Amino acid sequence: MSTFVYAFTEGNKDMKDLLGGKGANLAEMVKLGIPVPPGFTISTEACRAYLEEGHSPDSLQVQVTTALRNMEADMGKKLGQADNPLLVSVRSGAKFSMPGMMETVLNIGLNDESVHGLATRSGNSRFAWDSYRRLIQMFGKTVLDIDGDLFSEAFDNAKEGLGIEQDTDLDVEALQGIVEEFKAIVERETGAPFPLDPREQLDAAVEAVFRSWNTERAAIYRRRERIPHDLGTAVNIQAMVFGNQGSNSGTGVCFTRDPSSGQGGVYGDYLVNAQGEDVVAGIRNTLSLEALENIDKASYDELMATMHTLETHYRDMCDIEFTVENGKLWLLQTRVGKRTASAAFRIAAQLVEEKLITRDEALARVSGEQLTQLLFPQFDDEAEKTVLTKGMAASPGAAVGEIVFSNAQAVERTNAGADVILVRRETNPDDLEGMVVAAGILTARGGKTSHAAEVARGMGRCCVVGAEALIIDEKNGTMKIRGTDRVLHAGDVIAIDGTSGEVFLGDVPVMPSPVTVYISEGLDAGLAAAQDQATKELVTSVHLLLTHADRRAKLTVRANADAPEDAARARAYGATGIGLCRTEHMFLGDRRQLIEKVILAETDEQRDSAFDALFPLQKGDFIGIFEAMDGLPTTVRLIDPPLHEFLPDITDLSVKIAVKEATGEEVTEEERKLLDTVREQHEQNPMLGLRGVRLGLKIRGLFGLQIRAIAEAAADRLEAGGHPLPEIMVPLVGSARELQIIREDAERIIAEVGESRGVKLTIPIGAMIELPRAAITADSLAEEADFFSFGTNDLTQTAWGFSRDDVEATFFNEYFDLGVFGVSPFESIDTRGVGNLVSVGMKNARSVKPSIHCGVCGEHGGDPLSIHFFHKVGLDYVSCSPFRVPVARLEAGRAAVSNESPDDF
Ligand code: ADP
Ligand code: MG
Ligand code: MG
Repeated sequence: MSTFVYAFTEGNKDMKDLLGGKGANLAEMVKLGIPVPPGFTISTEACRAYLEEGHSPDSLQVQVTTALRNMEADMGKKLGQADNPLLVSVRSGAKFSMPGMMETVLNIGLNDESVHGLATRSGNSRFAWDSYRRLIQMFGKTVLDIDGDLFSEAFDNAKEGLGIEQDTDLDVEALQGIVEEFKAIVERETGAPFPLDPREQLDAAVEAVFRSWNTERAAIYRRRERIPHDLGTAVNIQAMVFGNQGSNSGTGVCFTRDPSSGQGGVYGDYLVNAQGEDVVAGIRNTLSLEALENIDKASYDELMATMHTLETHYRDMCDIEFTVENGKLWLLQTRVGKRTASAAFRIAAQLVEEKLITRDEALARVSGEQLTQLLFPQFDDEAEKTVLTKGMAASPGAAVGEIVFSNAQAVERTNAGADVILVRRETNPDDLEGMVVAAGILTARGGKTSHAAEVARGMGRCCVVGAEALIIDEKNGTMKIRGTDRVLHAGDVIAIDGTSGEVFLGDVPVMPSPVTVYISEGLDAGLAAAQDQATKELVTSVHLLLTHADRRAKLTVRANADAPEDAARARAYGATGIGLCRTEHMFLGDRRQLIEKVILAETDEQRDSAFDALFPLQKGDFIGIFEAMDGLPTTVRLIDPPLHEFLPDITDLSVKIAVKEATGEEVTEEERKLLDTVREQHEQNPMLGLRGVRLGLKIRGLFGLQIRAIAEAAADRLEAGGHPLPEIMVPLVGSARELQIIREDAERIIAEVGESRGVKLTIPIGAMIELPRAAITADSLAEEADFFSFGTNDLTQTAWGFSRDDVEATFFNEYFDLGVFGVSPFESIDTRGVGNLVSVGMKNARSVKPSIHCGVCGEHGGDPLSIHFFHKVGLDYVSCSPFRVPVARLEAGRAAVSNESPDDF
């Protein structure tokens, strides 16, 4: 016979799989000798059996009887006993706490007889009848699935009929009337009377907890959080204690440190003469924990000692529920407390300081996501604010600016020196220009995966989406707020909080984050930027943890940066090089004409003269970047996109020429040639067409031009006394032969430059691995390569056959709902598929060249989960956007101290 039932005396905190979080921690407290009302836990195994068979196993019933009788013997009273009832609570508790699970039912065991027993024993009839009506209400709603409004409406009607405002003013007679009415509701809605048999109440509540595992809300949450669907929940049955027995009783919630600021020292709320759920419901104003000291010193002292015991035992901040019943303290729950980002860092550092945890353990207590939150500018908490409305927090930060409703306005006002907030019903790719210049973006429609949200996050721009109360009239330039008379116009100032989703009227003061100041300018500057002691402590805490992460990390962190300013920022943020320097922008703007000439050239001379014009410009670009990264490696990727991206749009050009023809205007020879070329170059699937190394092989001089510019720039820097460390990366390689040809060209050019300039140039040449074929044949590629960099963005596109721009908007939402994936494979590496290609590629490459340097330069390089995976696979570095560098440093350190196994991914 399986064991389905465990007394609190039989479990411990490590049994969460079987007893759930709540049950395991209740058992742990009992083990520590802390006063906990007796009880037992029905295991998750019983839940799984129930869900499989559709009913409780017989042996569960038997084991519950035994556990209940033991408990009754302990307490000297029986469940629902008429003259002296034992009452219990039935509480769900899975391994991970999740929304949608059944709410706790209190006071099980009350019925028409035992209510009198409770009244006599407590000397408080009002209390007894109030408990009874609460039982029927909670039981009706949560166990019997009756619409809760039916009860609350009946309750309010009764109060209104009696002309009463406060629940507590209802007398015994009124409560008795309500109990009768509630019972009638149950009978009417379910066709059966409210169960008066205590054991029947208990069994029904237990089964309802089991069933709640499969509510839609719980299932959606599990899918999103990647919690397996087959864990099941445990159920805790616990003797009731009453905090609502008078002024000598009460209930509270407390933390061993402040969970919102991380301030050391206890923190909590207390409510006199109340039951547990009253604190959370906010029915009455709570007192601070210190008030308990004056009310009941003995209970307060015992609580303080218990908190100390728990924190020492768990070696972390604990979250505690307690009740005082007639001067006797009872603990009802504890767990390692949830906390804000700043609290996480401060508490971890405090515990290191107190020598309660090691530095490695401290690293496990914080996360890259938390660090991200500390980096955004913030609104001044103290400032007065008028909230206009609230939307979804899509991309964190704090932004203040004038309202603009279009790209043109955004650009115009920005050029005039204003900060702007781009306000749109929703954004589309045409809004990019406006989004780039705006301080923040606000939309009325769309969710966290909308265009606005995705683009804003990519740019690190503050963004609030789906503020549905906004009525935006872009044409007339007005923004109204539904349900109010307020009308705002273009030019009016608003502020948006991308961390909370709030939209404020007017100018709210913004402060740069002192943590960002610390990261870019060092500890002294960070401390100077911190306005108060708490923030100084936060800065020191981040410093402690980040420097420890750097010491432990095996992966180094590089940045993706194309321009000297970005390179400088990356360097300030702690990047140890550039892992991806794109070169496309070196052909844009005024230079577009030159590349057009390259494409249209009919003879070698024409083409060479266009190359000659481009050469000094490119060389200048490289000098700037090598200077910013002096002494650190810079991986330059040769030109990657298809050529037609540099040519006019086919439709625009056709229309232009057609209009000219129709109006009799002369169409030049040049224009006709251009149109022919644009037509010729048109591709059905440009992503899979003539680009990357293929383009380099077709127009040999193009890569040649870039390689020469890199080599000459390096020579200039050497002559100037610098230490340039360029690396040349060839994109979209699929075969060793492709790489071999480019490599031969490159080696020849580099040697020529070295000779003519009289300097020694060592420039490694490597390949970007972004095609499945490249990963699978990485051993033969390795013969031709000095290094590899996995381009996981394109590798994800080519492995799944997804064109990112097309698929994200069209069917990803359905894929999330259907559980095809919990998170976008573009956000976090698909470890089983794309990750496996990385792993195979590494193995193949190192089988030929054991020490070949390998990194990742996709956006995944800044994603925590992916970083842990890359650590496990044994890569040498990750490269991410400059802004993510601190996060990646922290996660690289965390990955090194964790004991993750390959199965964890
Ligand atoms: P949640 O997980 O939502 O906090 P809980 O099971 O902890 O649900 O219970 C809700 C409230 O009821 C809490 O305030 C808790 O302290 C209180 N409570 C639960 N069981 C008992 C009990 N046996 N005696 C007194 N109060 C209880
Ligand atoms: Mg609780
Ligand atoms: Mg690519």
